[in-house]
Amino acid sequence: MAPFLSKRDLRFQLFEVLDTAALPQRPRFADHSREVYEDVLNLAYNVADKYFASHARESDLNEPHVVDGKVQLLPAVGDAMRAFREAGFFSAHHDEELGGLQLPWVMTQAVQAHFQAANVGSSGYPFLTIGNANLQRVFASPEQQAKYMLPLVEGRWFGTMALSEPHAGSGLADITTTATPKDDGTYSISGSKMWISGGEHELAGNIVHLVLARIKGGAAGVKGISLFLVPRYRINDDGTPGESNNVVLAGLNHKMGYRGTTNTLLNFGEGGESVGELVGEAGQGLRQMFHMMNEARIGVGMGAVMLGYAGYLASLDYARERAQGRAASNKDPLSPAIAIIGHADVKRLLLRQKAFVEGGMALGLYASSLVDDLQTGPEEDRADTSLLLDLLTPIVKSWPSKYSQEALSDAIQVMGGAGYTRDYPVEMYYRDNRLNPIHEGTEGIQGNDLLGRKLTQAGGRGLEVLMSRIEADLQAAEGLDGLDEIRAALKTALEQNQSALKVILGKAVDLGPDLFLANANSALEMLGHTVVGWMWLRQAAAAARALPEAKGDDANFYHGKLQAARFFAIYELPRIEFHAQLLASADATTHEMQETWF
Ligand SMILES: Cc1cc2nc3c(=O)[nH]c(=O)nc-3n(C[C@H](O)[C@H](O)[C@H](O)COP(=O)(O)OP(=O)(O)OC[C@H]3O[C@@H](n4cnc5c(N)ncnc54)[C@H](O)[C@@H]3O)c2cc1C
Repeated sequence: MAPFLSKRDLRFQLFEVLDTAALPQRPRFADHSREVYEDVLNLAYNVADKYFASHARESDLNEPHVVDGKVQLLPAVGDAMRAFREAGFFSAHHDEELGGLQLPWVMTQAVQAHFQAANVGSSGYPFLTIGNANLQRVFASPEQQAKYMLPLVEGRWFGTMALSEPHAGSGLADITTTATPKDDGTYSISGSKMWISGGEHELAGNIVHLVLARIKGGAAGVKGISLFLVPRYRINDDGTPGESNNVVLAGLNHKMGYRGTTNTLLNFGEGGESVGELVGEAGQGLRQMFHMMNEARIGVGMGAVMLGYAGYLASLDYARERAQGRAASNKDPLSPAIAIIGHADVKRLLLRQKAFVEGGMALGLYASSLVDDLQTGPEEDRADTSLLLDLLTPIVKSWPSKYSQEALSDAIQVMGGAGYTRDYPVEMYYRDNRLNPIHEGTEGIQGNDLLGRKLTQAGGRGLEVLMSRIEADLQAAEGLDGLDEIRAALKTALEQNQSALKVILGKAVDLGPDLFLANANSALEMLGHTVVGWMWLRQAAAAARALPEAKGDDANFYHGKLQAARFFAIYELPRIEFHAQLLASADATTHEMQETWF
C-alpha cells in the first residue's frame, strides 16, 4: 500500500520553506525545539497509521446506522478516538495549564494533516471537538469553560457546530431556531438543525453542541442571532453528565463520502426542554462564528489537500508498478512493456497532481503560520498579518477543495480501470473530497467574500500586503538556478491581477452589487492560481538553494520540486489571463441569463 502522506515533503514545507524551527524563539514556544516537533510528527504518523488508516475503507463501506435509537459506529472508531486522546492531540494547541503542549497552529495543522489523509471520516470527530473548544476558549466565560470546554480539551466529551438548518445553509441570517430566556439566566432552545456532523453517537460521555439561535423578542436579521452551549446530557453539579437534554436525533443523512462521520438532523426541544447557555453577549453569534472561520476554513482547505495528496501518492505508486505499452519510438513488439510512469501523458497527470497538492499544502501551512504570527509574532506586524490572513482565507478554503478534486480525477485517470474500482482508495478520496467545496461556505460564497469584502477591506490593505510579500520573494529568488520561468510567469500574473482588479473594483459602484459579483468566481480563480504560483516560487527557491549540496534521494526530491514549479508556471499560470479579462470586462452573460430561458 502507498503511504498516505509524504513525511519528506511535510518536513520540507515546515522546516525548509517555512521557518517553523525558529518558533521556539517566541516565549510561548520556548520549551519546544526541532526535535520536539519531529517527535510530535512521528507520533502523529504512527497513531494515524495504526488506528485511523487501518479502518478507513471499512468505515466507508459501513455507514453509521441507528439500532434501538442509538447510532452504531465500527468499534475501530472508538479505538482510534482513544489513541488520539492518549497521544494528547485533543489538547495539543492549548496552554500547559490545561494539559496542552502549546503547539503552534502550523504544527497543529501538520498533526491534523496525518489524520485527514489517513481517514477523513474518523478525523471529523476530534476536529469538530477541537474547533468547538477553541471557540469556547475565546468567547465562553471561565465558568462555562470549566463546565463545557475542559472535558473537550481532555477528549472525554465531543463537540459539534450546529449552524445550518433545513431551509438555511449559505444564508445563515435566515435561521429560525429560537432561544427563550428562562428565569435562571439559561435559555430554552427549540428548532431543527440540519447536516450536523458528529451530532449523535456513543463515542464520548457527552456531546456539547454550539448552536446558533435567535433570542425570542430580539432584533431581526443577523443582529438577533446568538450562540449557545447546548449539551446532549444536562450537566450535574459535580460536572458529570445527567439527564437527557432533549436534543433528539430526527435522522441520519446518507452521504457520498466522509461516510465515517455521522451526519444528523437534530431537533432541539422535542418532547421536553433543551436547556442552553448563552456564549458571550446576545446578538454576537455570527460574529463569534466568523471569528473562528479563518482557522476552520484553513482546516477544510488542509483536509482537501490531504485527500488529494493521498490520491497522488496512491496513483504514483501504481504508475511505477503497472506495465503497459512501449515508448512511441520503440517498434519491437517483443520488448517488455514499460511502467506507465514512462509515458509523457502519465507524467503530465502526475505532475498536475503534484503541482496542485504540494502547492495546496504549501498554502495551507503558510496560512497556518500566519495564525501563529497573529497570536505570537511581532506586535507591529499583526494588523497587516490579520488583513492578509483575512484576504487569503477564502482562497485557502476553496482553491484546494476545487483543485484536489481535479487532482483526484487525474489520479483515477492514471490508474485506468483500476482507479475506478473499490480495490484502490482513490475513488473513495474522490467522493470524500467532493464535500469540501460545499461545507464551511460553498465555493460561490467564498467568491463573493473575496471580491465583495476581502479585497476592499481596510481600503484594500490586505491586497497591498499580499503583493508586497510576493514582490519580496520574487526579488529574493533573483539569480537562483532554474527559476526563470516561474519568476517570469508569476510577474505576468501579478500584472494581470493588478490591472483586472483595478478595473473591476473601480467599476463596482456603477455596476451595482449584482453585476459586480456576477464573476466573483473568476476573482477566486485568478487570485487563487496567483497565490499558489507564489507558493511554488517559495518552494522552488528553497529547492534551488538546497540542491547544490544534495545527493541521492534528496537531490531527486529537489529536482522534483523545481520541475513541478516549472509545470505550474507553464501549464497553469497562463490560465489566469482568461479570468482577468472576464473580470475586467464585467461580462454580463450569467447576470443577464433569464430563469425562463433555461
Ligand atoms: C456532509 C456535510 C456535513 C456538514 N456539516 C455541518 C456541520 O457540522 N454543521 C453545520 O452547521 N453545517 C454543516 N453542513 C452544512 C453546510 O455548511 C451547508 O451544506 C452549506 O453551508 C451549504 O448550504 P446548503 O446545503 O443549504 O446549500 P445552499 O445554501 O442552498 O446552496 C446551494 C447552492 O446555491 C449557491 N448559493 C447560495 N446562496 C448564494 C449566494 N448568495 N450567492 C451565490 N451562490 C449562492 C451555493 O453556492 C450552492 O452552490 C454540512 C453539510 C454537509 C453536506
